[in-house]
Amino acid sequence: MSGGTSETKLVNFAMANKVRRKIINFLAKGDRNVEEIGEVIGKKTFDFHLKFLKDAGLIELEKETVRISEYGKNFLENKKKIGIEEVKDLSQAKPVEIAEVRQFLPCIADASKFRVIADMAPPLDGALKILEPIFPRANYSDIKSSLIVKKGEIITTIYGNGKVVMRMVKNGDEAKEELENLKNAINEAIKKGITPPPKEKIKVELMDIYKYLPQTNCGKCGEQGCYSFAIRLMAGQVNLEKCTLLKESQYATNQERLQFLATYI
Ligand code: SF4
Repeated sequence: MSGGTSETKLVNFAMANKVRRKIINFLAKGDRNVEEIGEVIGKKTFDFHLKFLKDAGLIELEKETVRISEYGKNFLENKKKIGIEEVKDLSQAKPVEIAEVRQFLPCIADASKFRVIADMAPPLDGALKILEPIFPRANYSDIKSSLIVKKGEIITTIYGNGKVVMRMVKNGDEAKEELENLKNAINEAIKKGITPPPKEKIKVELMDIYKYLPQTNCGKCGEQGCYSFAIRLMAGQVNLEKCTLLKESQYATNQERLQFLATYI
């Protein structure tokens, strides 16, 4: 394993699931045979989860023995370091409210969409930076003292002084719902007092999505084929639920991978 982008994605797929994290932590204490692992996680989903871990290079299988690979050991070591260094304290931050929606204007980039300017109170100031990891796609800028959060097509900028600009919303109802979601996500983190360690930034490409779709071009999603569906998913115009084929058992692994990737679109 080289640690390149595609390997990183495989590792993140694998470790995004709590059963697989349990297996890795179990193996970190020493080699196990398949029986022992089956007892810990249940035999029904055993092959499914081991395949993910093996594809990611985190474990090795030798006849009946399962062991953590060198790559897996390094991965766990690095995770431990990041976890210790990066968990941040939010104890000084106060829960926020969206105090006022000041303006509702056509979007500059796309006149069919809208831009909303609102106020968040109290201002988050320095706590903004700490909140970055709670959003799958977010970037903090020290220079602008702002946090940009992306979700589908919607781009929201939260400034340290409390100003919030949300772009590319379809209508007032969507803006209201998304501002509420934003407020709830922030308040939940403030209530816990800490944020998770920063996540690996994952850049999802169109082909990452396309390659895990069933590729039957059946049209059941209402699109011409899987490629068109992938384009619309990347643009935030459809959700994965529309591809009903993914619910079939033969596509269970693909579905899980796509669900994981979709959180980074
Ligand atoms: S329903 Fe799924 S498999 Fe069928 S065309 Fe759409 S994306 Fe492809």
